[in-house]
Amino acid sequence: MTGTVFNIQRFCVNDGPGIRTTVFLKGCPLSCAWCHNPESKSPRPELFYDADKCVSCGRCVSLCPQKAHLMENGRHQLRRESCVRCMACAETHCPALAVAGETRRAEDVMAEVLRDRPFYQASGGGMTLSGGEPFFQEAFALKLLRLAREAQVHTCVETCGFAPLSVLEQAARWVDLFLYDIKLTDPALHWQWTGVSNDRILENLRALDKMGAKTVLRCPVIPGVNDTPAHFQGVAKIANSLMHLQEIHLEPYHPLGVSKARRLGRESLLEGISFPSEAAVQDWIRQIQPLVRVNVRKS
Ligand code: SF4
Ligand code: SF4
Repeated sequence: MTGTVFNIQRFCVNDGPGIRTTVFLKGCPLSCAWCHNPESKSPRPELFYDADKCVSCGRCVSLCPQKAHLMENGRHQLRRESCVRCMACAETHCPALAVAGETRRAEDVMAEVLRDRPFYQASGGGMTLSGGEPFFQEAFALKLLRLAREAQVHTCVETCGFAPLSVLEQAARWVDLFLYDIKLTDPALHWQWTGVSNDRILENLRALDKMGAKTVLRCPVIPGVNDTPAHFQGVAKIANSLMHLQEIHLEPYHPLGVSKARRLGRESLLEGISFPSEAAVQDWIRQIQPLVRVNVRKS
């Protein structure tokens, strides 16, 4: 069993309880305008190209079978429309070029995760699957979760919830805590900003809760998109309908994805928007906390 992984990050402290290793899987069915991991969108490996680091040495030109790398008037150009993602050019070890995503065996990923078992045991941590949407590679995600459970490692999944319910139900057998995104509570705005309806997401959340699955609601705070009283009142209403909710986390938007989107040759719809101030996030926490019975905090 193999899958496409774009990062394995050790010693994470914001992706669930304790010290964790977070495995980032590629592929996502949503197209959130504020995505901070745009390299996760496609399930295939992708090429990062940073024009600011290119010194126009031309080494990549002869390596590209598609002639996507060109030299024009002594300056390097990349024609992405010709690129077939063979990744041959990344062999140059050029600082301007990098590959996002590699094919990994589930057993190898798990061996890497298990290296930090003493830290999980000491801190109550474990493995978190993130992405992208981990269940976009459903068989691979389920296999990793099963292997972690067999190894007695605590498991979290960061999910947008847009997955077949049958997959989430299977996963619930091996997931200790779902970190469940609530991006926009207004259905029309959810369509507008993520490209999909939130109907299935909310139905899946209710179904998981009925099964007894523990959840944390993860709510991005994005200036000009969802920082409204109506949205956070909607979050509180959802929270109060859940029996097994543990906490609500507010996640301030960070414009990290804008430069990554540029290096992938894509435009970011949120260019120019900055992150919310600490005071603004704390103010939202103060407003939501009295409305719900679980703890609300910044993540
Ligand atoms: S992308 Fe890298 S290898 Fe290609 S011309 Fe620029 S610096 Fe040289
Ligand atoms: S990934 Fe392959 S096709 Fe794309 S630019 Fe590099 S060598 Fe050319």
